[in-house]
Amino acid sequence: MKKFTKILALVLALAMTAFCFAACNDEKKENKAEENDKGVASDAIVADSSDRVIKMATNAAFPPYEYKEGEEFVGIDIEIATAIAAELGAKLEVVDMEFDSIITSVDNGETDFGMAGMTVTDERKEQVDFTYSYATGVQSIIVPEGSDITDIDALTGKKIGVQLGTTGDIYASDEFGADNVTQYGKGADAVIALKGGDVDAVIIDNEPAKAFVEANEGLVILDTDYAVEDYAIAVKKGNTELLDEINAALEKLTADGTIDAIIAKYIKAE
Ligand code: GLN
Repeated sequence: MKKFTKILALVLALAMTAFCFAACNDEKKENKAEENDKGVASDAIVADSSDRVIKMATNAAFPPYEYKEGEEFVGIDIEIATAIAAELGAKLEVVDMEFDSIITSVDNGETDFGMAGMTVTDERKEQVDFTYSYATGVQSIIVPEGSDITDIDALTGKKIGVQLGTTGDIYASDEFGADNVTQYGKGADAVIALKGGDVDAVIIDNEPAKAFVEANEGLVILDTDYAVEDYAIAVKKGNTELLDEINAALEKLTADGTIDAIIAKYIKAE
């Protein structure tokens, strides 16, 4: 009997160790996927069984282009990038970071390309090369319902919230003065500031603007097209090999309707 108890205890101890090993390991993996000590989260999406991995720098707080559903990265850019990776016979790894860090990350080779509803601008073209444009964005102005701001000119002298380093940030600072502009790490944080009355308006791309207004009562988008922009993928300056590969994939995915289908899945026609 004693011996049996001993054996049982041993078996139980072994089982618990094994369980903890598996569970603790899982926990570690989860943490790693969530965030490392640099505040950068990464996750691999299997698109192919080959060894090639391409790393996408993005800011997953920009619905419907890139955002998180639980631990999963989803959105138009994520799906297009997954399709591009499949064309390249590669696995896609999504690396989540501040929007403002994307170009640096691509430039120093930490990631292979940047895709984040990123507008092609002359200034950025000096730092990175852009692929063909795969989508269009329009800068929009969000205000609280009943605001006295009814058009762009009425923004003069008002407090404007933007996402750091975006074209909205650049326009607002250029046109209304940096002193009137508050920069937030995420568009969602600018919207929270707007709801709390810390800023009077938020300038951000139209599709995220719609998503934020839908998710937050009491906000409206002004009926004004502030600036129309082209979104493209950024690669390291001079990396024509990757640029050509991505462009060829984009051409194919445009021709066969994949890109339109992905966009239509997330943006309902009005
Ligand atoms: N289209 C804007 C830009 O490129 C915003 C992009 C973003 O916030 N992800 O600056």
